[in-house]
Amino acid sequence: MSKEENLECSFCGRKKAETDLLIAGVDAHICDKCIEQAHGIVEEEVSEANSSSLSKDLTLRKPLQIKEFLDQYIIGQTETKRAMAVAVYNHYKRLLQTKEDENEVEIEKSNIVLVGETGTGKTLVAKTIAKMLNVPFAIVDATVLTQAGYVGEDVESILSKLLQAADYDVEKAQRGIIFIDEIDKIARKGDNPSITRDVSGEGVQQALLKLLEGTVVNVAPKGGRKHPEQKFIEVDTKEILFIAGGAFSGVERLISKRLNMQAVGYSASISEDKIDEENLLQYIIPSDLKAFGLIPEIIGRLPVLSYMNPLDATTLRAILTEPKNAIIKQYEKLFIMDEVVFTIEEGALNYIVEKALEYKLGARGLRSLCEAIFTDAMFELPSSDEKELNVTKEYAEAKLTNTTLKKLRAAS
Ligand code: ADP
Repeated sequence: MSKEENLECSFCGRKKAETDLLIAGVDAHICDKCIEQAHGIVEEEVSEANSSSLSKDLTLRKPLQIKEFLDQYIIGQTETKRAMAVAVYNHYKRLLQTKEDENEVEIEKSNIVLVGETGTGKTLVAKTIAKMLNVPFAIVDATVLTQAGYVGEDVESILSKLLQAADYDVEKAQRGIIFIDEIDKIARKGDNPSITRDVSGEGVQQALLKLLEGTVVNVAPKGGRKHPEQKFIEVDTKEILFIAGGAFSGVERLISKRLNMQAVGYSASISEDKIDEENLLQYIIPSDLKAFGLIPEIIGRLPVLSYMNPLDATTLRAILTEPKNAIIKQYEKLFIMDEVVFTIEEGALNYIVEKALEYKLGARGLRSLCEAIFTDAMFELPSSDEKELNVTKEYAEAKLTNTTLKKLRAAS
């Protein structure tokens, strides 16, 4: 027998001829069958470790640490970060409650509503929390939702998105986070709800109530009514954290009205508490959302209310370079892959911020502005001998023509 045929698996003892594959290590061999078996064991161990990660998350991350995690990705918005950190911490404490505890004091869900202009980071905050907790995350737009039976998407479709994000693992989906964008767009229009049938307003709010509170829903995994043959999956929303966001444009007027009325009532104290007229959102309270047109039941099921500050020049400047995955850091990385050393001068950064403010492009616009400035270089440098790119203010100005700026404004 040749030396080769004498080889055997050091784990199960099978001869080389009895295996499909025998892999050699330093002093041992392993066959394909043992590899498969070992792989199975590893998978099982890992999934067990993951299922107990909930309690680990909780012991590892206190509100302060949650905020520190958010700080890596989100500039400013301190009040919202603190409110979110506490809400998420309490949410997971609630999940760890044992059955006996529930007989004593029942901790309610800490679903959250964030009020702030578009582009101020509402989605980013929700997404970052999901990333930290390593739970599935879905974004849904409240404007496409209608009551069951009307054209549009049923409220249950929200859950099919989360199921997809969880790769159809129901257990995982049930611990996920759902971000409902544009919640303000389903506000009741007009004061009398019975005049017209409001299929996309109050009706949707009613349908959302149960989901927010916790209920078992039959979900069509592929969503919609286009696949009538599909089997339904039962999803319990009791442990899903809902974060709703909206611009609530015009709510400042309602806040101001309320504050003025209060001021009349307590005239002695107005001079002590100067109202910051520039940023009225910071005074928002649940009754302002009611005045805007959300039904009290919905407001009650979104007990944590916070607001986003508008992005000023300093914040926009910081967003360009400071977050862990800041836009400028991403370009640096892209260029370095072509061995191009990329630098950008302070003057150019300030110029980008200036244009974002002037053309009201917000934080999202920063990226489009950078694309417009760097595209030529990204096209040309990979096939040239030039191994350096220093972006000055003049370079940025030359690349950003008025036409480009107008186009960006139209697209925003
Ligand atoms: P919203 O949901 O409020 O409309 P987004 O969260 O979608 O806003 O924000 C758009 C983009 O702007 C984000 O992806 C992020 O790149 C950037 N951004 C906005 N606010 C901030 C912030 N405070 N810190 C860092 N980046 C931000």
